[in-house]
Amino acid sequence: MDQPRNLTTEPESTILSSKKTVCVIGAGPSGLVAARELRKEGHRVVLFEQKHDVGGQWLFDPDVEKEDPLGRTKFMEVHSSIYNSLRLLSPREIMGYTDFPFLMKEGLGRDTRRFPGHRELWLYLKEFSVHFGIRELIRFNTRVEYVGMLEGNNGVCGDLGNDLKWVVRSRKLDDDIISSGNGDVNDVDYDLSIDRVERNGEVVEEVFDAVVVGNGQYSYPQLPSIKGMKTWKRKQMHSHVYRVPQPFQNQVVVMVGNSLSAQDISMELAGVAKEVHISSRSQKNLMEGFSKVISKHEKLHLRPQIESLEEDGRVLFVDGSFVVADAILYCTGYKYSFPFLDTKGLVTVDDNRVGPLYHHTFPPLLAPSLSFVGIPRKASFTHIQIIAFPFFESQGKWVAQVLSGKRKLPSPDDMMRSVQEFYRQREADGIPRHETHDIIQFEYADKYADKTGFPHLEEWRKKMCLVALDNSDVHLETYRDSWDDEELLQEALQSPHFTQHIGPIMIST
Ligand SMILES: Cc1cc2nc3c(=O)[nH]c(=O)nc-3n(C[C@H](O)[C@H](O)[C@H](O)COP(=O)(O)OP(=O)(O)OC[C@H]3O[C@@H](n4cnc5c(N)ncnc54)[C@H](O)[C@@H]3O)c2cc1C
Repeated sequence: MDQPRNLTTEPESTILSSKKTVCVIGAGPSGLVAARELRKEGHRVVLFEQKHDVGGQWLFDPDVEKEDPLGRTKFMEVHSSIYNSLRLLSPREIMGYTDFPFLMKEGLGRDTRRFPGHRELWLYLKEFSVHFGIRELIRFNTRVEYVGMLEGNNGVCGDLGNDLKWVVRSRKLDDDIISSGNGDVNDVDYDLSIDRVERNGEVVEEVFDAVVVGNGQYSYPQLPSIKGMKTWKRKQMHSHVYRVPQPFQNQVVVMVGNSLSAQDISMELAGVAKEVHISSRSQKNLMEGFSKVISKHEKLHLRPQIESLEEDGRVLFVDGSFVVADAILYCTGYKYSFPFLDTKGLVTVDDNRVGPLYHHTFPPLLAPSLSFVGIPRKASFTHIQIIAFPFFESQGKWVAQVLSGKRKLPSPDDMMRSVQEFYRQREADGIPRHETHDIIQFEYADKYADKTGFPHLEEWRKKMCLVALDNSDVHLETYRDSWDDEELLQEALQSPHFTQHIGPIMIST
């Protein structure tokens, strides 16, 4: 950006007082659709994206050398945790936003499978951004490094969120900055005067009426705490930086966790590694399909939790057994992280609970000027996947309409009471704090949609999702290539979602 700007004082926003200048952080599936909804509602949107293109997790990044293998940095250099062989967990038909079906496209470099590889979903998101003219709203290669309340608005009161404005500092990342890892907010000598927008080197400071955070939740590794982990000298890495199996050729690998990534990765490691030991805290939650795969492959072994890592390379398990390992691969999931966000303690991350958030979206004391999209996740124990994209769409719509005044939120006190009641209910149901945002999708998505008159998930979408989950549960190795829901597929393809008219979209592949 060449000219310093205070976006909130530009004429357009004063004429349209219910129209806000909104900063959206992240051009992944949630940020993209939120930006689209905000603009539809007449808001002025600037979408900040630290990478060179849209797609978020789906913008594959093979260059993992620049990342700490355990991801222990404030700002991650690698955002995407997608590995080379990754194919979608669910059939493409259920993935699309409501007004933009994820169609099969023939042509060079296109993947026409029902469960395509990750690149096909990235192309879909790219097409979405072109079709709805979102790209012109995006500042690529620009990382948001600070978001905080504009001074003078710092006292907490009931209406704080309505009057609040937000200071956003962003840094243009060029290739030198990315490769040198020079991205720490503390390295910069900021000019903190805020009424004027300052350029300080590559850092730009602007003021917005509202900020929508859509920075994703699958980039910052959640690591276990294991005795000896800090001193173990051999290779340790998190699945965040796993891309291909070849570096594990003939190695003895211990994988920690039995998540969906662990399942995929262990199956492909079985083809190259000497032995793969899957260490799992609880074997109760092992999917039937995964158990079958482990018992079939002679190189795959199920192990209990790790007791300690020893200097001589041994990995000791709690049942007293051990292996001498070359590498440990942590498939232990991800944690929410907002390294740029300063809310003066009004929003915190506590044991992976982001809160308080009214319906996982609005912090009661800062709403509606601060909001979050893309926080909900699957319910891990039931393996019920969220049908994410339509849900993100309904979130974006709600945020956009609340900001324009078309929809009203309850009072901050009422929102807070609702959050507390939600926490209380979860606790009563025995759900641990770190699963606060694991919400069972269908009922919740429909209830959430009612807030904005957003359509409920189609029955075929729900059924197709469940059929695919059941199939994966039993036939883990083959469910992406062999299925038994032909009737449902025909029903989907003849539904208004697939028969709606979408004009031609040209992008280079
Ligand atoms: C291995 C793996 C497999 C998955 N498989 C599936 C699947 O099959 N189906 C499914 O529905 N979901 C799957 N997911 C979940 C996937 O994350 C979601 O589909 C989706 O990408 C979430 O969208 P999002 O926009 O919330 O976050 P993201 O896709 O993570 O996008 C966030 C964006 O924010 C940007 N950003 C972050 N911080 C900043 C900053 N400070 N400044 C500027 N930009 C920033 C990032 O660069 C990124 O572009 C998978 C995830 C993983 C890790």
